[in-house]
Amino acid sequence: MKFDSILIRYGEMAIKGKNRKYFERKLQDHLIKKLSQQFTHTRVRKQRDRMYVLLNGEDPHKVMQECQQVFGIHTLSFAIKVEKEEQAIKDAALYAFNDAPEAKTFKVSCRRADKTFSIGSQDLNYKVGGHILANTESVTVDVHHPDVEIKIEVRNDAAYITAQDYPGAGGLPIGTSGQSLLMLSGGIDSPVAGYLMMKRGVQLEAIHFHSPPFTSDRAKQKVLDLAAELAKYGHRINVHIVPFTALQQKIHNEIPEGYSMTVMRRMMMRVSEKIAAERNILSMTTGESLGQVASQTMESMNAINEVTNYPVIRPLVAMDKLDIISISKRINTYSISTLPYEDCCTIFVPKAPKTKPTRENARYYESNVDFDEEIIEAVRETKMVEVRADEKAEKEFEDLL
Ligand code: ATP
Ligand code: MG
Repeated sequence: MKFDSILIRYGEMAIKGKNRKYFERKLQDHLIKKLSQQFTHTRVRKQRDRMYVLLNGEDPHKVMQECQQVFGIHTLSFAIKVEKEEQAIKDAALYAFNDAPEAKTFKVSCRRADKTFSIGSQDLNYKVGGHILANTESVTVDVHHPDVEIKIEVRNDAAYITAQDYPGAGGLPIGTSGQSLLMLSGGIDSPVAGYLMMKRGVQLEAIHFHSPPFTSDRAKQKVLDLAAELAKYGHRINVHIVPFTALQQKIHNEIPEGYSMTVMRRMMMRVSEKIAAERNILSMTTGESLGQVASQTMESMNAINEVTNYPVIRPLVAMDKLDIISISKRINTYSISTLPYEDCCTIFVPKAPKTKPTRENARYYESNVDFDEEIIEAVRETKMVEVRADEKAEKEFEDLL
């Protein structure tokens, strides 16, 4: 015996009223694309307020793992379809229960949609429960808080048995909440910010500021690898690589050191807004978190934010570093983020950046220098790399800059 499908429940999505169909279609699309990367035989079917992945012989647990990375799913369970026959149902229920080897208590809940089926629901509960008790050790029934609830649905065509719930990734299907341009450094925070946005249904593109030769190719590769990790939740992420050296150097030479960080961030915002506008993206996302470093004070955010009226979304703004780190470990970006290659900011970091910059001063220092040409050039020379899940994007990378 083997599980033949995975039942998918969507949770939050189900309350979306009129948009429901759209959400379901997006979820189905994501599942199909995600599974087709690894499996040839799986099929995704929609049925009233749930979905099924038909396994068609594919490894149930491998498919489950992939499904668990798709946003918009609340819980999942394996299901077995058997003939409407007592022994077949009993065997399937026992098999399904054994998928949860840790479980010590269970409950059987039978629903009989086919009223012509000869055994009553209550009766079937007892029979199946008895069969499980007779074939397991130190397992008991608990009707109130069972470790596993075995559900049996007797329908017209067959009986369907499901057992333990696996947790889904939660959130909303990617693409149902618009797009944002993630300002992606090689650090710990920005990939986590991107993950949280994707989880909320946002399709991301990323932008990275690169300053060769002050930052190495490996620093850029690190960013592409981070994007590849994030792409696992969608299918691909377009990464815009901005050549930032000319702007960096001009800032370094012309702006008082205390303001070079603030002005650099303002330049990043200006370029990001232009790229976002070109791509029809309506917001930027950063990994900023209050109080972490000099550039992340209220004054600093105010001074940086002056140069754009696009929404700048900061999903981590009120999070503790330890919580951010624990998410980054869970989503596998931590080990990439903590590789030693410097991103452009660390190289030009002033010894004593102003922790309380003002808009007026930033504006004043910028007014003494003409940055227009460099900004236009940076935007024009920006290259877009399409990063797919698990792909190291090395080939495209070699062609850049
Ligand atoms: P992170 O861990 O994301 O690098 P951080 O704590 O190092 O963040 P900062 O260096 O102040 O903080 O950067 C703040 C935010 O600015 C980053 O989270 C990121 O969104 C953006 N940023 C910084 N450097 C770059 C870069 N080279 N390219 C793109 N975005 C950047
Ligand atoms: Mg950083």
